[in-house]
Amino acid sequence: MANIGFIGLGNMGGPMAANLLKAGHAVKVFDLSADAVAKAVEAGATKANTVAQAASDVSFVVTVLPAGKHVLSVYDGPDGVVANAAADTILIDSSTIEVDAARKAAELAKSKGLGVVDAPISGGTAGAAAGTLTFMVGGSEADFASAQPILDAMGSNIIHAGESGAGQAAKICNNMVLGVNMIAVSEAFMLAKRLGLDAQKLFDVSSKASGQCWALTSYCPVPGPVPTSPANRDYQPGFAVDMMLKDLKLAQQASATSGATTPMGALAESLYALYSNGGNGGMDFSAIVKMLDGDK
Ligand code: NAD
Repeated sequence: MANIGFIGLGNMGGPMAANLLKAGHAVKVFDLSADAVAKAVEAGATKANTVAQAASDVSFVVTVLPAGKHVLSVYDGPDGVVANAAADTILIDSSTIEVDAARKAAELAKSKGLGVVDAPISGGTAGAAAGTLTFMVGGSEADFASAQPILDAMGSNIIHAGESGAGQAAKICNNMVLGVNMIAVSEAFMLAKRLGLDAQKLFDVSSKASGQCWALTSYCPVPGPVPTSPANRDYQPGFAVDMMLKDLKLAQQASATSGATTPMGALAESLYALYSNGGNGGMDFSAIVKMLDGDK
């Protein structure tokens, strides 16, 4: 069993740290929120008072933070993870951040000879709690192999996507598909409604025909066909509009710097920005169907 430092105990990080504890690892936690730390300590973690404390005398440091700037600020500087981690420590960042920021974080770690992987996650808060997350991992073969047993305690699909940054690349490509698909599925249900076609009938057809996709069959944006989808609980997240918007922005940023052509991704970003600006940032992202219905 390993000694693990864990920084960022929010909606995702909290239950992920709890699963490391359940697997028998010793976990030392740090978060700016005293409440989040107290909850982890109740579950069996040890409290660290600073980032430096969380990063020292451990074999792994896991970070699950909001954005790239948080990860870089926690990694960098004399009080940061990189300066305070022992030479053989492996850094695992499971935040969703810019590909470039992930590469920068990896350079910082490697400059001190540390192992490092970007390992963003998919599966939402339910997957984090159940320990069934998908991890998309960027880093060397050796660092991936070192991180895998730790990731196994928090997820059920661990995929080595390539070198540093490849995990983040996989994450934003996947979520761009999801954002575009959710809008396409929502448009289809609103068109069906105006044509007098029953939503369940469209679901029965499309889920067995060429329109089949995860946004339809696992996360249907209208109430009824998929009982577990947020549409059946007033679109409470789930995965919030602002989280989807963040990922679509990351995809567009990456498109601009890499020269890719992603017009559907750009349109999805605009539509989610419009919906968020209407005060809906905290709704589940499938609620965009309501905007397409004239906000009914
Ligand atoms: P969250 O806001 O619930 O948690 C972030 C935590 O980081 C908070 O507890 C906050 O206090 C802490 N924090 C921020 N800055 C810090 C610092 N400098 N030092 C220590 N702690 C700090 O966010 P979340 O929903 O847990 O998401 C975390 C990451 O996971 C994000 O990058 C998000 O995009 C990604 N993600 C989220 C989901 C989801 O469904 N929520 C799904 C997949 C990926």
